[in-house]
Amino acid sequence: WAKHQGRSQLCLYNHRMQEETRERLHLFNDLYQAIRDNGFTLVYQPQHNAEGDVTGAEALCRWVNNGHSVYPDVFIAAAEETNLILPLGDWVLTHACQTLRQWIRNKSLPPSFRRLAVNISPAQFMDPDFEAKLDKTMKSCDIDSSVLELELTESLFMGDKDLIRDKMQRLSNKGYTFALDDFGTGYSSLSYLQKLPIDKLKIDRAFVMDINPDNEPASIVDAIIQLGQNLNMDIIAEGVETDQQQVYLKDHGCRSYQGYLFSRPLREDMFVSYIHKRPV
Ligand code: C2E
Ligand code: MG
Ligand code: MG
Ligand code: MG
Repeated sequence: WAKHQGRSQLCLYNHRMQEETRERLHLFNDLYQAIRDNGFTLVYQPQHNAEGDVTGAEALCRWVNNGHSVYPDVFIAAAEETNLILPLGDWVLTHACQTLRQWIRNKSLPPSFRRLAVNISPAQFMDPDFEAKLDKTMKSCDIDSSVLELELTESLFMGDKDLIRDKMQRLSNKGYTFALDDFGTGYSSLSYLQKLPIDKLKIDRAFVMDINPDNEPASIVDAIIQLGQNLNMDIIAEGVETDQQQVYLKDHGCRSYQGYLFSRPLREDMFVSYIHKRPV
């Protein structure tokens, strides 16, 4: 009997695996076509200071496949698995810079606006052509490097440390700025923080979520803020959803915020009306 049961479970397992493989192949194929056919869009989530001004935005990629939106966590991971992240990353960078150029030309941005942030995958950053592509995109859009913020994750620092440091340093010397995304969720040692030209730490949403009425002090948030202050870096909190979280963050020295409390990520035109709707 045991033998029989074992075999039927094996069958079930095989069937599930086949199903998963088929779904994955479909996903990769659709992703490939979407890259070829310009099937992506970008949305922009506002970033605010403690006075309520819009100081920047983060560009986030969206994909609607066969009528269904696919989560970025899913399709970015799939793109990273195959080297499709390179053409997708190029598209994101180009499109974000073109939008920024439009906003600057149309004088859509308030004086408080400092930077547009773009997420850069490790493979994209490690691409030997990355720097040249970046410079070319910025030049063709006639945007100053200081208006772009490159968001990197700690997972990048698993790679060749010297190479990464040199590349970041060169880009930093050219005026580009770096934010460390999802800070606190990675495994890497903290010693790299001092050695790399990082301008900003983004406190991960998971830690901001821990700030709630019945909680003891949110010690990780406090520690990240202090670390950032000691290293002379800017600090922004991601995923701020409640007034109370914002007040806590402000009282503890974090003066930049991004999250649903202010706005969800917005389409290009909605972002501009969001800025104009705000009291001056
Ligand atoms: P991320 O870079 O950490 O982006 C922040 C994520 O948090 C976004 O999810 C945003 O929509 C979400 N978020 C912002 N505020 C709140 C809030 O108050 N509450 C909650 N629950 N969520 C909030 P999204 O757009 O789904 O993107 C997920 C991840 O996918 C991003 O995390 C980023 O790692 C990646 N991603 C998105 N677009 C790109 C891209 O163009 N290139 C690359 N390489 N990665 C991207
Ligand atoms: Mg990000
Ligand atoms: Mg993040
Ligand atoms: Mg994330």
